[in-house]
Amino acid sequence: MNLSTPVQYLKGIGEKRAAAFAVLGIYTVEDLIYYFPRAYEDWKNIPPINEAPLGENVAVKGIVIANALPIKTRSGKTMYRTCATDGAGMLHLTFFNNPYAAKDMKEDEEFIFFGKIKENDMGAREMVSPKYEKADNDGYLHPVYPCTAKLNSKAIAKAVRTALDTFSDSIGETLPKEQILKYRLQGLKSALYSIHFPQNEDDIRSAKRRLIYEELLILQLGILSHGKKGEEKTLYRIKENLTEEFISRLPFPLTNAQSRAVNECIKDMNSYSPMRRLLQGDVGSGKTAVAAALMYNTVKNGFQCALMAPTEVLAHQHFDTFTKFFKDTGINIVLLTGSTTAKNKRLIKEDISSGGAQIVIGTHAIITGDTVFKNCALVITDEQHRFGVNQRASLREKGDSPHVLVMSATPIPRTLSLIIYGDLAISVLDEKPKGRKEIKTVKIPSVYHERMYSFIKKEVKKGHQCYIVCPMVEESDDTEKERLSAEEYYKLLSTTVFSDLKCALLHGQMKQKKKDEVMESFKNGETDILICTVVIEVGIDVPNANIIVIENAECFGLSQLHQLRGRVGRGDTESHCILVSDSKTEQSRQRFEILCSSGDGFVIAEEDLKLRGPGDFFGSRQSGLPTLKLASLLTDSRILYAARDEAQRILSEDPCLQKGENKKLQKKISALFADIS
Ligand code: ADP
Ligand code: MG
Repeated sequence: MNLSTPVQYLKGIGEKRAAAFAVLGIYTVEDLIYYFPRAYEDWKNIPPINEAPLGENVAVKGIVIANALPIKTRSGKTMYRTCATDGAGMLHLTFFNNPYAAKDMKEDEEFIFFGKIKENDMGAREMVSPKYEKADNDGYLHPVYPCTAKLNSKAIAKAVRTALDTFSDSIGETLPKEQILKYRLQGLKSALYSIHFPQNEDDIRSAKRRLIYEELLILQLGILSHGKKGEEKTLYRIKENLTEEFISRLPFPLTNAQSRAVNECIKDMNSYSPMRRLLQGDVGSGKTAVAAALMYNTVKNGFQCALMAPTEVLAHQHFDTFTKFFKDTGINIVLLTGSTTAKNKRLIKEDISSGGAQIVIGTHAIITGDTVFKNCALVITDEQHRFGVNQRASLREKGDSPHVLVMSATPIPRTLSLIIYGDLAISVLDEKPKGRKEIKTVKIPSVYHERMYSFIKKEVKKGHQCYIVCPMVEESDDTEKERLSAEEYYKLLSTTVFSDLKCALLHGQMKQKKKDEVMESFKNGETDILICTVVIEVGIDVPNANIIVIENAECFGLSQLHQLRGRVGRGDTESHCILVSDSKTEQSRQRFEILCSSGDGFVIAEEDLKLRGPGDFFGSRQSGLPTLKLASLLTDSRILYAARDEAQRILSEDPCLQKGENKKLQKKISALFADIS
């Protein structure tokens, strides 16, 4: 028997139940025992009925004093009522439409009841539809699992218990023994029992520590081993540094930070081992110019280079930007995206393989199998957070160990990025180009719409442009709904308040050609107001636009709002970000407050991490990194550092993880990274 046995073969789980488990992503026994509770209910600390706090979840114990009796309510339901006593106090019990509970509530039976107690008008204590359990134990901490309508937490707990008991012998230790000793970690089997069925808070703490360590060690091993496969050598040394020549072509001087980053990269590219570097810079810090400098050097040294963007809109924009940067240099730049026609694709690919195309700009299409480069020396990916570790790896394989630069606008706190991008060196653009003004950010309720519209009109009269980001349709993948809502909003605005202005619509479902036209006309200043979905989130650069309105701002995460805001404030005029929201939740209030008071991406990222729960940081589909079940990158940073050190040590001794104890880790790594390729 092993842990990959399907849950269906567990006692008490048939085909139907198994389907309900599958909905939660639980297919095997292993999935099940690694499906952790999200909280615990305290059924252990049991106060006397009369002293139990009112209005909060609590467990009390009592003997039922009479069989429950059915009473018909006016609405036709049946409710069952009885009482229980612990000698000193009396607890009235009511169950609605629950004949099972009624049957259990027999005279003289003793139960633990769990729920909220309230006092009725007569001062009597009452629980309505409490959970309950026979009082044949001292009570314990009950695990609470994320569940579905078809599968409740209790059923999951029961299945987990069965799985642990049945497969107890198959649960081997995953961690090397010396690490268990060194960090005084609990063994795997006992940690698994404790996290599901703890005796007390200490059990939970100790189990979590062990399981978090395991999770982070595997994460680190995965990241580090993806990065380094032995000592790589590159054929593409950039021998001649032509940065000065490039700078003289630019319409602006580089910032100190940009110069520093370019120098760091050139130094890397001058060596015999390929560059592996992350360029981190807040929105608007000028990452593109750094990329251009490196590409210029690469081409002038006789090699090809590629730049990969996460969206077509962005690829097109880069193509335009570079075409301008490299005007009159004779450098041949090509654009290759998913929507390039088949015929053109073929021609362009020929151009690439012959070496005629010196700079290749595109989307994922570039890395799909059959694009062959003649001598690609440098690969740059923009807005790195959308690319996974695996994609990074496959890009590298495009050439004979080309230099790799990944550019990210997700300002992960530096300490964290050191770890998450463990395979990369880091350059940071911590300075914005001169003359940038702070973006004025305000949050307004929707009743202020009219005022906002007249403000926008005034700015447009002055010659500025405006983005309006449409309300999101929840957090769904339903692009169809998103399109509809964008179209509707566009129709409304362009025929009413802004009927005398030039409005345009941009959403992800539009044909590429149409998108290009819309972007082009916005860039040229022919369009005043761009009504759009989050397709503009990354990268778009139109310095003359100085207002961005974000409708239903509460639907967006903090970092995403900051990214969106970064679409303005790119010129030297005063810019505005208007967040429209009627949300009154504490979380949105906090988010808006942070945004309105800080323009620093790093500060915001740190706050963002704090506001999110464990795992969520990677949980977003965009991160390209696996989802963590227990660990929080913020609060578990000490364990993270330990795990990183150990991962480095393990890999230096056994790079392919093939020695004895390490083999088990290798399996876990594959499993963790399997979903994100
Ligand atoms: P991001 O880092 O967000 O990708 P971009 O590369 O799009 O930023 O640059 C933002 C804007 O700043 C662009 O319009 C670009 O031309 C301009 N820019 C970049 N570097 C400088 C500089 N050193 N001085 C002035 N403007 C600059
Ligand atoms: Mg950019």
